[in-house]
Amino acid sequence: MASRADHLRSCLGCKFVQRAKEFTQRGCPNCEAILEMMQDTDQVIRCTTSNYDGLIALIKPEESWVAKWQRIEKRVPGLYAVKTEGNLPQDLQERMRGGG
Ligand SMILES: [Zn+2]
Repeated sequence: MASRADHLRSCLGCKFVQRAKEFTQRGCPNCEAILEMMQDTDQVIRCTTSNYDGLIALIKPEESWVAKWQRIEKRVPGLYAVKTEGNLPQDLQERMRGGG
């Protein structure tokens, strides 16, 4: 069984997918300002999930039909889940909606 830290997880805010340890090291490239996962393993667990379906590679967000379909035009290129299970904690959902 692979080490837990090597498992891919999907951000519950934007569905960005990377390894758990990368969320801990760098946070989410889209949501870090709100979710503040960097150097906080508990927060990574709360704000990401290993329970997701499908993976799509987003290369050029502004041109991709996938981006329009997934409404992820403004997100960084990378790997995204098609569907995630679970929700952000309530307070963080409100911060995400608030826009900032
Ligand atoms: Zn995110």
